[in-house]
Amino acid sequence: MDERVVVAGAVYDRGRLLAARRSAPPELAGRWELPGGKLEPGENPREALVRELREELGVEAEPGERIPGEWPLGRGYVLQVWTVRLLSGEPRPLQDHDELRWLSRREWDSVDWLDQDVPAVVEAIRRL
Ligand code: C5P
Repeated sequence: MDERVVVAGAVYDRGRLLAARRSAPPELAGRWELPGGKLEPGENPREALVRELREELGVEAEPGERIPGEWPLGRGYVLQVWTVRLLSGEPRPLQDHDELRWLSRREWDSVDWLDQDVPAVVEAIRRL
């Protein structure tokens, strides 16, 4: 089956992981996620992730390793997550988010993560 892919980034900086609070749609607003989004036609996952992080956060970033696993999002979509290193820019919530937070290892569950992101976040924190 041709599963549809949503890519998200575990963005690291100085021993912390970036969390982004969604501002839309209403049923997801206020919940936290690893920033990312859907692939556009012709894109591979890494290209899509670089574009999404540029659009949503205003940063240039480089995907590293894929975090093993794939998490169902409903309606045929699956979530795939890559570790990400920032190349330039300071992340700002430009689109889809209204707040960003850098979380240390012990703070990882201090925000209300989207349920489907939790297993990926646990893996991302282990790699901090
Ligand atoms: O950001 P965008 O709206 O393109 O994301 C598409 C879908 O993927 C959203 O409906 C959201 O529920 C889901 N998503 C997610 N976890 C992420 C990123 C996106 O569940 N880290």
